[in-house]
Amino acid sequence: MFGIVQGGVDADLRRQATRATVDLGFDGYAIGGMAVGEPKPAMYDLTELVAEPAPGGPAPLFMGVGKPEDLVHSVARGVDMFDCVLPTRNARNGQAFTADGPLTLKQARYTRDQAPLDAECGCYACRGFSRAYLRHLFMAGELLSHRLLTLHNVTFFRAHARDARGDRGGCVRRIPGSVLRAVCRGERRGIGGPSAVSLSSGAAPAHLLGQLRNGAHRLR
Ligand SMILES: [Zn+2]
Repeated sequence: MFGIVQGGVDADLRRQATRATVDLGFDGYAIGGMAVGEPKPAMYDLTELVAEPAPGGPAPLFMGVGKPEDLVHSVARGVDMFDCVLPTRNARNGQAFTADGPLTLKQARYTRDQAPLDAECGCYACRGFSRAYLRHLFMAGELLSHRLLTLHNVTFFRAHARDARGDRGGCVRRIPGSVLRAVCRGERRGIGGPSAVSLSSGAAPAHLLGQLRNGAHRLR
């Protein structure tokens, strides 16, 4: 059973709620009421604050997160678990997440595109079907497109989580977009970068902390 930490964007309330929730002795605790439209820098700072008691204590879960870049930011701040509708809901809306960023099959540009959704992906959808055929299924209202895109998106997020955690020894290969590559290089670029990361946190992956440290001089 997990307790849910609330407190809005107020750091003191979040700190109090975290302490009180952890003291109750749950198996884990969830970060609730965040990722609901607050500025990203505030979200990342509060994530670090709430995830801080994690080493040796209950594991933090970030409810409703999220986008690929938010997963990496949150893992770097000590979050271990996520739950989110994004991979499956967006699949049902015709969107696939790829190493080069999201791809929306509603766009006419994919009508004759014979490439797979993601050339780096080994899932059943990418091994057997072209973007053009998947777009045809989606536009025709065939539920098979929902299933295949869901299969791909779940595969992508699992691989993304493994990369963020460091199982593959790197955090860039499967992470889409220049924003995330900037995170991995330790650059701020106005995205609520890693300046607030606790570099001594045992919960954050060592390889990512190393990369953040290397870029730390550019963060101030
Ligand atoms: Zn795939």
